[in-house]
Amino acid sequence: MSATFVGMPSFPVAAKEAVHDTTLRANLRHATHTIRDKRAKAVAELSDWQQLREAGKQIKDHTLRHLDRHLVRLEESVVRAGGTVHWAADADEANRIVADLVKATGEREVVKVKSMATQEIGLNEALAAEGISAYETDLAELIVQLGHDRPSHILVPAIHRNRGEIRDIFREEMGSWGRPAPDGLTDSPAELAEAARLHLREKFLRAKVGISGANFMVAETGTLVVLESEGNGRMCLTLPETLISVVGIEKVIPTWQDLEVFLQTLPRSSTAERMNPYTSMWTGTTDGDGPSVFHLVLLDNGRTDTLADEVGRQALRCIRCSACLNVCPVYERAGGHAYGSVYPGPIGAILSPQLRGTASEIDASLPYASSLCGACYEVCPVAIDIPEVLVHLRERVAEQGGKGHRLEKAAMKAASWAMDRPAVLAAAERAATRTRGLHPKNPPGAGAWTESRALPEMPGEPFRDWWKKRSR
Ligand code: SF4
Repeated sequence: MSATFVGMPSFPVAAKEAVHDTTLRANLRHATHTIRDKRAKAVAELSDWQQLREAGKQIKDHTLRHLDRHLVRLEESVVRAGGTVHWAADADEANRIVADLVKATGEREVVKVKSMATQEIGLNEALAAEGISAYETDLAELIVQLGHDRPSHILVPAIHRNRGEIRDIFREEMGSWGRPAPDGLTDSPAELAEAARLHLREKFLRAKVGISGANFMVAETGTLVVLESEGNGRMCLTLPETLISVVGIEKVIPTWQDLEVFLQTLPRSSTAERMNPYTSMWTGTTDGDGPSVFHLVLLDNGRTDTLADEVGRQALRCIRCSACLNVCPVYERAGGHAYGSVYPGPIGAILSPQLRGTASEIDASLPYASSLCGACYEVCPVAIDIPEVLVHLRERVAEQGGKGHRLEKAAMKAASWAMDRPAVLAAAERAATRTRGLHPKNPPGAGAWTESRALPEMPGEPFRDWWKKRSR
């Protein structure tokens, strides 16, 4: 089972540790720079990229505005096609639904195709508590699970691992989960891939229950869509007798025509491919073809609260391409674990505090995990203005208080009072220049500022006096 994110320290604490890990920084730098350069080339091939980006934004915004209508239409279509729809308000309810569905089959193990929603709700841990083993089948997810680790990237959850580390994990752990790694396994990509293939094949052929997520759900026909690169998704979606898909409610789109836009923008933004190797689509059940039982669990878990926020709701447009992570200077140095959530990087910094609220230390610190450089917004294929949402969430965190924020508020209040009274301000400025030799270099309460910046020297006379003299 993977480690969980529960009880993570705030972003600055976790990031401080991560930036000292030179192996992690080298792995991340190499991987993010390679992907970002390829993405830029793939995007430059399309002369209508900006129009596609705008279309994606508008389709998502329109759908979110009428989400209730589209979800009901989706439910009707799925039921008509032979599936069953379940509504889960939060993580506990979703986990309970899935665990009951698996138990009803009499099975004790399931295979999973990468699904961020199930990681968000901690499904593997909930199933383990019921005596059900969940096996991740995406290669990177497998590495994370075997390494008792946490994912650190949306698309490449094991991006923080290099080949040598992966070989060691396979050698040490595969045997206790199923078929062991071949003797003499090296760190060559072909050998590592073959070891994973043999290990997973055994599980695919045995599993009677598959659990998936989905990139999109098409309301008009009730079709679910998964884009992937390895074929593990195709195996999970077709071989088991029962398929359970757990999907966030924001993944619905109205029509197949809408899908056309995202099938162009998602592969280019995520893996820099014109088209992803496997696109699997399924609509309910079909006799003699694929799973005979299909359940769709529609997950809210904070999404309707996010939708209620006029600025923050744009985060629900996200199609999880990970382009924003690959260009982010903060992510590149701090790594994904520091964000304390299955959603790392810029999108995680705006999504997690909205889905989970800003009560915990880690969630209150996430809106500050950015230099607001705007690179994330530039590459986002659905034009989410991440810096705008970050500033908006900072405001929310500041409103909610905290020791540092109370001091800041008091200082701002005093400044606003003095600025409203020119005579008082002039007297204060003169007093400050006369006493400048006595000013402390590290004023109390400003430690975070003065730790890495020198306080500017106080000038010998106030600007207004200098200006008066100059004008004379
Ligand atoms: S916020 Fe935009 S760039 Fe980042 S993962 Fe989501 S869709 Fe991709």
